[in-house]
Amino acid sequence: MSTIQVLKPKFHIDECLAQIRECLEKGWTGSGFKTAQLETAWKAYTGHQNACFLNSNTAGLHLAVNILKRRYGWQDGDEIISTPITFVSTNHAILYENLKPRFADVDEYLCLDPVDVEKKINEKTRAVAFVGYGGRVGQLDKIIALCKKHNLRLILDAAHMAGTRVNGVMPGTWDGVDVTVYSYQAVKNLPTGDSGMICFADPELDAECRKVSWMGINKDTYARTSSEGTYKWNYGVDYVGFKYNGNAIMAAIALAQLPYLDEENARRREIAAMYDATFAGNPKIQIIPAPHREECSFHIYEIAVPDREGLLSELAKNDIYGGVHYRDNTEFSMYTYAQGTCPHAHEISQHIITMPLHMYLTDEDVAKIAGIVNSFVK
Ligand SMILES: *Cc1c(COP(=O)(O)O)cnc(C)c1O
Repeated sequence: MSTIQVLKPKFHIDECLAQIRECLEKGWTGSGFKTAQLETAWKAYTGHQNACFLNSNTAGLHLAVNILKRRYGWQDGDEIISTPITFVSTNHAILYENLKPRFADVDEYLCLDPVDVEKKINEKTRAVAFVGYGGRVGQLDKIIALCKKHNLRLILDAAHMAGTRVNGVMPGTWDGVDVTVYSYQAVKNLPTGDSGMICFADPELDAECRKVSWMGINKDTYARTSSEGTYKWNYGVDYVGFKYNGNAIMAAIALAQLPYLDEENARRREIAAMYDATFAGNPKIQIIPAPHREECSFHIYEIAVPDREGLLSELAKNDIYGGVHYRDNTEFSMYTYAQGTCPHAHEISQHIITMPLHMYLTDEDVAKIAGIVNSFVK
């Protein structure tokens, strides 16, 4: 009996190695060359006008806050409305820039609830950070309308959303989303080792991001070598930037994986549908719905059950490992000031369990897992 993990990336190894080999033969493993190819491929795939390749989504979220703060003159202590049901990166990125996450509650999709978001807006609110939980688009359209009404910026943490569409369009490209940040971390839908992509709607902010993500330097090394023939040593430094640029090896892996993203997401939806079909008849199992599910990337598949810890152990007895995405962030010491402000998030985070969902699962595996869950939860 082999172990079933909750998340497990599938690498197209020959294609990855061929892409990496090109970098090694060329002697170029840093930023440029493959990273530029990946940015072009990502723009073509998503429809984003701008894309800047980074070493992680976390770096991208930080840059989003850093760059919007400078552009719009935000002050320390200003607030960004965010969700307690996320990986802590979303909220830490706000703290990095001395802004304050103000938490709003989640809806049935475990995405920010527009009704509670509107209640949490005050004179210090500058932006909303929306997480497309599990690839779900949630009520992003309503959040966009709110941001427009209250003149707030919108940061989309699309770490789970690689490949999610709504009527054929990537939600990150919708009018009103200021910046979208993707993750290509090791277990995300488009896995590399660690990397991510930041897509600003405004080309000027993209240009600024290219500098800030590489120490604030105003020329990139690859452009200096390739366009001049000789290495042009001279450059200026316009910002106190960060070492957040992505490298060619990670870009090579992403380029090899990208052609498979849509078919792999289709398989994820198939598995999600199998789980749904088994759990639908069990009144003790709450399925977390996905709007536009036929175009959702389903990074993770969640259910809520009365005894989550019991179910995790029951699965473990069968060498099957579930997960929890996520603990209510207001339980962490740096966010306890917000405890009690998001009751639905707090309650549901004690009951959600992430079912195994990845490319190595067979239909038989899924039937077996679903069967164990269904008979345990009574
Ligand atoms: C994975 C993840 C991140 C962080 O992505 P990295 O690329 O690992 O920095 C941020 N937000 C969410 C919701 C995530 O799942």
